[in-house]
Amino acid sequence: MEQNLRVLPNHFSLPRRLSRLSELAYNLWWTWNPEAQMLFSFIDKLLWDRLSHNPIAFLRQVERSRLNAVTGDRNYLDFYDRVLHNFDTYMKAENTWYDRTYPNHTDKQIAYFSFEFGLHESLPVYAGGLGILSGDHLKEASDLGIPLVAVGFVYILGYFSQRITEDGWQETRTQVLKLDEMPVIPLYDEEGRPLVVHVELPKRTVAARLWKVQVGRVSLYLMDTNVSTNNPTDQQLTSRLYTSDLDVRISQEILLGIGGVRTLRKLDYKPNVWHMNEGHSAFLVLERIRELVEKGYSFEAAGNIVKKSNVFTTHTPVPAGNDAFPFWLLDKYFSSYWPELKLDRDEFIKLGSAQSEWGEQFSMPVLALKLSEQRNGVSELHGQVSRKMWQFLWPDLNEQEVPIGHITNGVHTGTWIARRMRLLFDRYFGPDWLQHIDDPEMWAQIEEIPDAELWAIRRHLKRKLVTFANERARRSWMSNSVHPVQVIAGGVLLEPYSLTIGFARRFATYKRANLIMRDIDRLLRIINNPSMPVQIIFAGKAHPADEPGKLLIQEVYRMVKDSHCGGRLAFIEDYDMNVARYLVQGVDVWMNTPRRPLEASGTSGEKAAVNGVLNFSILDGWWREGFNGRNGWAIGDEIERADPNEQDEFDAASLYDTLEKEIIPLYYANRSADNLPNEWVGMIKESIRTLAPQFSTRRMLKEYMSQMYLPEMESGGKEIPEPLESEKA
Ligand SMILES: *Cc1c(COP(=O)(O)O)cnc(C)c1O
Repeated sequence: MEQNLRVLPNHFSLPRRLSRLSELAYNLWWTWNPEAQMLFSFIDKLLWDRLSHNPIAFLRQVERSRLNAVTGDRNYLDFYDRVLHNFDTYMKAENTWYDRTYPNHTDKQIAYFSFEFGLHESLPVYAGGLGILSGDHLKEASDLGIPLVAVGFVYILGYFSQRITEDGWQETRTQVLKLDEMPVIPLYDEEGRPLVVHVELPKRTVAARLWKVQVGRVSLYLMDTNVSTNNPTDQQLTSRLYTSDLDVRISQEILLGIGGVRTLRKLDYKPNVWHMNEGHSAFLVLERIRELVEKGYSFEAAGNIVKKSNVFTTHTPVPAGNDAFPFWLLDKYFSSYWPELKLDRDEFIKLGSAQSEWGEQFSMPVLALKLSEQRNGVSELHGQVSRKMWQFLWPDLNEQEVPIGHITNGVHTGTWIARRMRLLFDRYFGPDWLQHIDDPEMWAQIEEIPDAELWAIRRHLKRKLVTFANERARRSWMSNSVHPVQVIAGGVLLEPYSLTIGFARRFATYKRANLIMRDIDRLLRIINNPSMPVQIIFAGKAHPADEPGKLLIQEVYRMVKDSHCGGRLAFIEDYDMNVARYLVQGVDVWMNTPRRPLEASGTSGEKAAVNGVLNFSILDGWWREGFNGRNGWAIGDEIERADPNEQDEFDAASLYDTLEKEIIPLYYANRSADNLPNEWVGMIKESIRTLAPQFSTRRMLKEYMSQMYLPEMESGGKEIPEPLESEKA
């Protein structure tokens, strides 16, 4: 497919015997294979940690003497050979699940479009949940052998990093990413020039250069307009994720949808299925229609063909959260495009028009819903909410008949599970347990693991988290730029023996990070109980333009640093995948308090579950499906109250009650003679057994395959060269 492209990964001066480390560094397979990570960390553990586990930066900076040392180490070399052998076996992709299950479709391709991809902290081109989901989707597609190719952006300024001032105000910093220290491979054409695609924007053509990220067997192509032939403004077009500037936003979405199709064409891909992960990429349907109109099809015939191979996943349960543009902006950007679709303005506008709070607008999800045959929300409840929200598009159907289904989000187990936990499962489930993640019977073997062993690992992971928080706080103190109270807020007084609750997510008001602060006296009594103390660790960023979100951080931070809390609350700055891993592996309880039904799915609690952390959450999104009464705790009930204040009051009361009467006693009381909380560990086992198989991307991708992709592979997706008489314009 890309034989003609000169791929020039960075050159490292590695000893010949270790030369393939560079190959590993450029394939994100290492991010979910701890043995591959150890190949790097073993060479120089301190440097590996200092460089945030970025193997490319690592190989560029590691001392030659360190490399020479391991080159002379028999054990290291054996280990190296074994890891590379596993890597080669994986990449050969023989006998994958996909090949076994769909032998008649091995020639098919699925294109996956997303605004953001969260693959690893060393490639910070993601903001949060949507990006992590996309990243996990690619990793799982790779594991299952699903022939998927993906398109997105490299944002040269990354997403911001976060600092909190003494007064609790979020400060943001951005840094130009050093692409030569990221796992992105520049693509070149046959003449050795950077490979670019073009899209037309008002009065100019913009070029985007192409980079490739290798995610196991899956290729991800990232566009970037930082090209010298673009004018200076256009060079910045893809520099930031989620700007509120409408011109930038629509230009990015034109580039993602239209430029993305052109990217895949340029690279000779012929996808049979086109999956839009959220509405940002919906303009791709127009570009595909344009291609057919150019061949002589009418708009309608082209639309019918294209639709059969489009999949749309919506993630947004509130109308205001959906991406929409004012009509004048569409006039500005598309008035020279709609003639190419053989449409006039009104016909064009109608494709996306919908009422919004701000009057009629052009809605990206409406465009995607109208021109996709397969549509889904991301949990059962979110499916229901979506059918209700979009019913106006199908005025002849009842709400239950609206053709939007659901596939509940999952997480990529190999990425999120702690290494110790993985080794434990290796021992009790057999070394190939990762092949059977979605098999409930395999997980039933959890009962065979002795409580003491499981508990020892839980304690180890909590110690690791506390040490991580302590070290971060120490570093901030030594930077000489923080007030001492910020060091306390960063978690220096955390200790590894108390019941520890984690709350980490985007700070949006509907997630109600302050719900547990509704009754401060009660909270203080809970956390400061000398015989049964409780710690709570917060983390999360607010969107820089979200003032209420930033005020919420401030409210939480002020509480965290209040001396009455005794340092039992902490706020870890700069939530990213690295912080997320420590938290979802290290705490005892994962708490989530969204205002129902606004958490479309949520995934962080799924990451926690597979590590033996117990969920304590509102019955919204995935937890409404996962909770069975014995595998964690619910907050509140399934009734949605019209008055938000009343809802908050009700949910907070439920939260405190459950904490005081159930969670804390279960953790501290009834310890066996060797100080083992047997009932707690029993609940951990129930949680892992019931949640790990169900809320994995393994189950999720198999559902996407059979419910969304397969019907399209069978019915549509054939690129028809010439229109039939009846299809002509
Ligand atoms: C998993 C994850 C998220 C999404 O978690 P939610 O449960 O959807 O809030 C956001 N950010 C990071 C860094 C994550 O790892």
